[in-house]
Amino acid sequence: MGILAGVLAIQGDFKAHIRVFKKLGVAYKEIRSEKELSDITHLVVPGGESTTIRKVAKSEGFWNRLASFKGPVMGTCMGSVLMAKEIESPKAEGWGMLDITAKRNAYGRQINSFTATGKIAISDESFEMVFIRAPKFIRIGDKVKPIAWLGDEITGVISGNKMALAFHPELTENSLLHEYFLSL
Ligand code: GLN
Repeated sequence: MGILAGVLAIQGDFKAHIRVFKKLGVAYKEIRSEKELSDITHLVVPGGESTTIRKVAKSEGFWNRLASFKGPVMGTCMGSVLMAKEIESPKAEGWGMLDITAKRNAYGRQINSFTATGKIAISDESFEMVFIRAPKFIRIGDKVKPIAWLGDEITGVISGNKMALAFHPELTENSLLHEYFLSL
């Protein structure tokens, strides 16, 4: 079966992920409703505002269906928050796809956004990381593996086919993490 990457397109920088899939020549689809989830193989949850996604997905009635998506999921920034088992600042409901606690906006406000050079587990090269009101993973469960770091700080984690990144790989030209995700 070929890959069909679904990109949650309720709000946020979903177009930046679509740009990467176009560049990679991967079939993709924008997701705004439960029935659009039926044929996708992979799900991307972009950066944006998690409170907005929670509100809209609940009122559209597909919050639980997103939470139980069985295929590979990649969440960037906001997406990583929603994937978490526990969310702080403030406490909120996540999908529980990853046994982590995500603390929202932990690097400060929009004006404190920054780009920095980190490391990823799948490459020896350094990796450019964009942080925009990014979360910190303040608790990481035993079965969850780090895959990205900024200095000593863990900025990306994976467990099975669920991958959460505090930064935005969709906003830089390096598509290694997208390619890795599509290989899951
Ligand atoms: N702070 C936002 C949230 O928790 C995420 C910011 C982002 O995705 N750039 O929803």
